[in-house]
Amino acid sequence: MSAIQPTWTTERIELLKIHFAAGLTCREIAERIGVSRNAVIGKISRLNLMRDKAGPARKERSGEPRKRAASRLRRQILRAVSVEETRAAEEPIANGHRCSLFELSKQTCRWPLSTPGAADFCFCGNPPLEGLPYCPGHSRLAYRISAR
Ligand SMILES: [Zn+2]
Repeated sequence: MSAIQPTWTTERIELLKIHFAAGLTCREIAERIGVSRNAVIGKISRLNLMRDKAGPARKERSGEPRKRAASRLRRQILRAVSVEETRAAEEPIANGHRCSLFELSKQTCRWPLSTPGAADFCFCGNPPLEGLPYCPGHSRLAYRISAR
C-alpha cells in the first residue's frame, strides 16, 4: 500500500454517484465505500450532486415573483432598446400621434407629455414596441430613468 492513498479514487467517486443516485444516505454511502460520512457530504457538494426531492427547498417569498417580473421587463426593455439604439441613436422622439388618456390603448405609447393636469396634457401615442407600454424612444427614456 502506498504511503498516501487519495480518499477519492475514481472508483470511489463512481460508487458514490451510484449509491447517491440509488437514494442511500450519506452514512450508508460512507460505510459502503469506506470513507467518513463527512468526506461523503463534502464530495457530494463538490460534485454538485442533487437529489430530486431532497434538493434545497426554493424559497418563494411573496415579493419574489414580482421582482422577477420587474427584472424581466427591464431585460425586455434593454433588449429592445439596444436593438433600437443601433438604428436611431439620439433621434428625437416624434410626437405626431399625441392622444388623450381616453385614447390610450395597447397600440399607443403611454408616455405622458407635459405635466399631468396641464391644459395640453396628453400621451405620446406612437406605436409601442412589442410587449412594452412605450414607443422605442420612450422605452429608452424609461430604461434610463429606472436604471438610475
Ligand atoms: Zn412614446
